[in-house]
Amino acid sequence: MLKDLKVKNHKQIIEVGDVKIGGDELVIMAGPCAVESREQILEAAEHVKANGGQILRGGAFKPRTSPYSFQGLGEEGLKLLAEARERTGLKIITEVLDSEDLELVDNYADILQIGSRNMQNYGLLKKLGKVDTPVMLKRGYAATVKEWLLSAEYVISHGNPNVILCERGIRTFETATRNTLDLNAIALVKELTDLPVIIDPSHGTGKRSLVNPLAKAGISVGADGIIVEVHPNPEEALCDGEQSLTPNDFTSLIDDLDKVAKAVDKRLII
Ligand code: PEP
Ligand code: MN
Repeated sequence: MLKDLKVKNHKQIIEVGDVKIGGDELVIMAGPCAVESREQILEAAEHVKANGGQILRGGAFKPRTSPYSFQGLGEEGLKLLAEARERTGLKIITEVLDSEDLELVDNYADILQIGSRNMQNYGLLKKLGKVDTPVMLKRGYAATVKEWLLSAEYVISHGNPNVILCERGIRTFETATRNTLDLNAIALVKELTDLPVIIDPSHGTGKRSLVNPLAKAGISVGADGIIVEVHPNPEEALCDGEQSLTPNDFTSLIDDLDKVAKAVDKRLII
């Protein structure tokens, strides 16, 4: 079924400054769903940095189901991320929602996040082939593994080999959780490709209490790292508060992942 894919043998370890994604070290990407204010992002960044994270997440352009929901701070959010990077030394991952904003977001981001809803935006994928910045391609919530890998090939075949895959859950008949995190897919894409794979148990479950167990599960089946939502005060989050970890939850998660990492011959840099 997947014999036509060329993603096998593409660059395996992606370097983002001194952070190596896809090697023996697990990569921790964490931060709020959206950049909301200077205080919020700086507080989140300090906590992520102090607890072993390497990459700060935070959306400045948000894909919201309702047009009436908070859409992100736009360029102001990117500037705040840059300030957080300056202060902490963390690298930044943030979403490009629209081809129109690619140049702008690329001026700030260390990794460009392509969201689930844009996984099959082929015009955008082709443009991502023309930049050098690593791209983290989230799986479409209703996309098969083959479709996901073909989307990765769009970016690679247009000139950018630095693609990281991210499993973030798919929509199934189950409504008890926000999505169903596809652990099969992680093990499968590790078998089929040489691309690094990151697991997102925040969107994969939609529920704070499930983030820790599913993060551990993802690392156990071969993920190269995690991306998780952490908010200084999840109750007041403008986006995805129910699935955001508190700073204390994040600290415990890192402790737990350290044990799992050893069991799968990987290391956490804490
Ligand atoms: C996010 O990371 O906040 C996000 C919107 O993710 P996804 O594209 O997976 O829904
Ligand atoms: Mn989110």
